[in-house]
Parts: sequence; structure tokens; C-alpha cells
Amino acid sequence: MKLGILPCQGACNVGNMTSKVALKYVDNEKINMVCALGLPLGIKKIIDMAKENDKFIALNGCPMKCSSKTLDKVGITGYEEIVLTSDFGIEKNKNFNDVSNMDKVEQKVEEIIKSFFHNQR
Ligand code: SF4
Repeated sequence: MKLGILPCQGACNVGNMTSKVALKYVDNEKINMVCALGLPLGIKKIIDMAKENDKFIALNGCPMKCSSKTLDKVGITGYEEIVLTSDFGIEKNKNFNDVSNMDKVEQKVEEIIKSFFHNQR
């Protein structure tokens, strides 16, 4: 069973944090990075690769929820939604190096990963 993580990769602290968090867990075997640009562009190969995952985490920086909307757009509905600003009280800013409270996001992602693989046994 495979889990796909889609970070929004937005141009702000919380967008960048979604990438940093995703990179911490992606192993290219059981946990895969899903391409934030390829899906909304409708690139078939990328959509097919994404759909090889059984479940997804939509890592959204802010309430615009670009990751969740991207998954919705290609008909993927089996995902856990995380929004960094509203779920963890992180303020959006333009400091790309700001990783304040990123540990809370990691904790939540770890919970979802553990729960997903535990339920597959
Ligand atoms: S969810 Fe927010 S931070 Fe992420 S890409 Fe969209 S607008 Fe930017």
C-alpha cells in the first residue's frame, strides 16, 4: 500500500514548509511525492503515477487549499487534509526560511502515516 503526499509548495513560509515536511517523509517506495504542478495541468502520466497511491495527504499552506483542490480536480477524494495556518495557528508570511511550528505539522503527518500503515496490516 502506498501513500502520496501533495505539498502545495506555495511562495510563502507555510507553502515552503509543506515541501520541507513532505521531503522528510517521502521514501519513493511506500510514501511518494505527488507533483503539485503536473496534476492541475492534466498531464496524464503524472496523474496516472499519482493514482498509484492508495491514500493521500493534502498539505495546504493556507485556506486557499491549493493541494486539496488539485486532488479534487483529478478525481482523487481519498485524502487527509492539513491546513498549516488554520490547523496550527501559523501566520502566513514571506520569510521562506521561517519554520516556526513546523514540528506540529510533522507530528500530524506522522500520526496520519502511522494510522495508514497500521490499518493496512
Ligand atoms: S494553499 Fe495557500 S500557501 Fe499553498 S499554494 Fe495555495 S495559496 Fe499558496
